[in-house]
Amino acid sequence: MAKSIGVTLSERILAGLIVDHAIVGDLRSFPAIRADAPVEMFPEEAQGGLIELHTDALVETICDQVMAVAGGATDVSAVGVALPGFIRNGVVEDAPNLPQLKGARMGELLSTQLKSAGIPAPVSIMNDADAVAAGLASRHGKLDTTVRVWTLGIGIGYGQYPIDGGIWENGHSVVSLDEKERFCGCGGVGHMEGIMGHRAMRLRFLDMEPEEVFAAAKEGDARCLDFKKLWHRALAAATASAIHMGGAGRFFLTGFNVRFVDLPMLKDYVGQMVKMSPLQGYSFELVEDEADTRVIGAGVTAEQAAAG
Ligand SMILES: [Zn+2]
Repeated sequence: MAKSIGVTLSERILAGLIVDHAIVGDLRSFPAIRADAPVEMFPEEAQGGLIELHTDALVETICDQVMAVAGGATDVSAVGVALPGFIRNGVVEDAPNLPQLKGARMGELLSTQLKSAGIPAPVSIMNDADAVAAGLASRHGKLDTTVRVWTLGIGIGYGQYPIDGGIWENGHSVVSLDEKERFCGCGGVGHMEGIMGHRAMRLRFLDMEPEEVFAAAKEGDARCLDFKKLWHRALAAATASAIHMGGAGRFFLTGFNVRFVDLPMLKDYVGQMVKMSPLQGYSFELVEDEADTRVIGAGVTAEQAAAG
C-alpha cells in the first residue's frame, strides 16, 4: 500500500496521511483549529501568522506536522508540500502571498530536516492549485484525464493535472488593459487576481468586505453590481484564454470564494468570448473547497514523482 504524506501551506498548514489515495485519520492543522474551518472563521492574527514565520521556522513547523501525522511510521514513501507560488525543482522562485519564501530551496531544506528526524522520504514541492487539480482527479477517479481548476481564494490559482511541465500562472492572466488595475499581489497591472483575489478586493473596497460587496450587488447597489460583473468578466476572460490555448473541456471552480460565483452570469460572458465551434465543448463544475482535496493532491503528486 502506497503511504504518503500531503501538506498544504496557505493561510494555515494542513497535513494528512494518505494511504491508497485516501486520507487516514484526522488532518492536522497549524495554527491548531478545526481543519475544515472556513478561512473567514479564524482571526486576522492567525492569517498573518504564517506570513510572519521566516523560512527556517516554517520548515521546522512543517516538519513537526509531518512527524505528527506519520506517528512513528518510517515507511512513508513520499512527502508532498503544496504552496501558493511559482515552484521549480523544489525551489520557490516567487510567492507573492508568502513573500518570505521567495528563493527558498524548500525541497532540499525539508528533506534534510525530515531525514534527520527519521523520515528519509523524497519531498516534492508543488503549486497549491496543481495539488487541487491532482486531488480532484484522484477523488473523481480521473487520474487518466486532464483536469483544470481555478482556486478562488486570497489569491487566484490555476491548477492543471497532469502538470505536464507547464508554468500555469494563469491567475495572473491579463484580463484588463486599464492601467488603474493595480491590485494584484505580484505587482502586475491588469491581472485577474488583482480583480478577483480576496486580498485585492479588500484593497479595492477599503470600506466593505468582499461578502458585503456581493450582498450589496444582489440588492442592486450600482457600484457593487458593476464590480460583480467585472469579477465575472475577469474569470470569463481568463477561462476563454485557457480554452483558446488548451482547448475546451471541464473547468472546476473551487476555493473559499467560489461562493461568489454566479454560474449563469459566468457562462453568459464566456459565451460572448469563445465563438469558434470546435471550442464550444467546455463546462464548469463548482466544488466545495475541501482541505482533503488539496492534501490528497499533494500526497498523490509526491507519490507519482517518487515512482518516477
Ligand atoms: Zn499578478
